[in-house]
Order: sequence, then structure tokens, then C-alpha cells
Amino acid sequence: MENVYLKSGERASHAYIAASPSGDERERAARGLAAALLCEGAGDRPCGRCRSCRKSLAGIHPDIVSIAPALDAEGRKKRGITVDQVRAVVADAQVMPNEAARKVYIFHDADTMNPSAQNAMLKLLEEPPESAAFVLCAGNPQLLLPTVRSRCAMLRINADAEEDEPARAAAGALLDALGDGSRRAMLEWSASAADMDVRAASAMFRAAREALADELGGRGSRGLSARRCLELDKLFSRCTAYLQVNTGVKHVFGLVSVSGDLPERK
Ligand SMILES: [Zn+2]
Repeated sequence: MENVYLKSGERASHAYIAASPSGDERERAARGLAAALLCEGAGDRPCGRCRSCRKSLAGIHPDIVSIAPALDAEGRKKRGITVDQVRAVVADAQVMPNEAARKVYIFHDADTMNPSAQNAMLKLLEEPPESAAFVLCAGNPQLLLPTVRSRCAMLRINADAEEDEPARAAAGALLDALGDGSRRAMLEWSASAADMDVRAASAMFRAAREALADELGGRGSRGLSARRCLELDKLFSRCTAYLQVNTGVKHVFGLVSVSGDLPERK
């Protein structure tokens, strides 16, 4: 039995990120989600029984379009989906679906798109054609532009719930301290986060960047300006990069304390 991707009566988003470290899992989720978006059933979707579901799940639905990095002459993967491939989707999305209410475009390895391809993608997401939906498969959604992420609903597959919850709580505390903007709030945050290890700190920054994407997409509750969200996203991205090259957690947190409140000082 297929998983349920859209509950009965749930309004579909026009864009999703299917995020999972496992390529198989995110492909499976993307196919299930595409089936749900095209399902003709009235209850939970995909129903798995309607004509559309049978075609989707058999991989032969004419309104599901796959876009993947092209292979080079040796059969190895190219570096990423190109801007030309995205432009082809822009053109194709203007054409009416074959039989369903919409077309679903699945972008495999969407996180390998370079900035120009992502910017073309962003334009598509900003003004999506009525009869098109997009599923971006990503092993590492942080490689997508925050402006792209903010326009997509995030579907995390096989997220490690036990690791995720503390990470979200820590990210909340960090964003609260940064939102407060005072040195005292930052000092208190530094003290509370003092014994975090690299793994926990990386998970915290990942969760914080997801929270910022929610803020940018109007789904957050912190009332941060778009400019502030983008500044903080950049800062957290730098912190993540530092942690990846084994910079000490304390050092990185020092960077957050120093840089974090700069934009608030006029
Ligand atoms: Zn169905």
C-alpha cells in the first residue's frame, strides 16, 4: 500500500521538496507525491485505485514529467540540471496537461542545480502556471537557494525524529536570541549551547535554516524581515561550512555571537 501524501480535503501545494539522504527514498516519495497530486479519489491521496493512480504508480502517467541531470558520454552523471532544462520546463508548463488537472514535474537531484538554473527555477515557482506542480528531490535541501526553499513545502523522508526534535528546539532558542538582538540574549544563548558537539550543532543550523525558509515563505511566526532571514541564512551557511572543516564548535558559536547582532546595530 502506498503512503498517504495528501490527507482527505488537504489542499495541495504547487511545489514540494522531497528531502532524504537516501536517493531511493526520495524518488519513491516523489513518485507517491506526484500520484497524490494527480489522484482523482475523494479521500486520502493517492488512493491507489483510480485510473490516474494506476498509471502514476506504473510509471506511465503522461502528465508526470521527470527532469534529471543528463549523462555524459561515459554514462556518468553531469554536474546538475542545467538552466536550459529548466527553461524547457518553463515552456512545457504553458502547454495544457494531457489528461489530468495538472502536470507534475519531478526534478531529480534538484540540489545539484547551479545558481543560474536555480534562479530560472525560482521564477517558475514565483509565478507558477495554474496547471503545473513541482517536486524537487534533494539529498541536501540546504544547497537550494533560501528563496527557492521558501516557496516549497518540505517533505522530509526518514528524518531522524530523535535527532530532529532537539535540533529544532536548539534552533528555536538560537533564533529567539538573535531576534532579541541584545548582547545579553546572545551570551545567555552561548552559555546554554556550550556543550553541544559538532553533530548537534550542524543539526541545529540545519533546523534553523529550515525555520528561516518557513519565515520567508510566510509560514513562520517570528516576524523576521526577509532581509534578516537571508542574512541569517548566509551566516548559518558559513557556520555549517566551518563545522564541516572541523572548526571547533565554540569558535563557530563565537562567530554567531559576533556576527549575529551586527545587522541590528545601525
Ligand atoms: Zn487515485
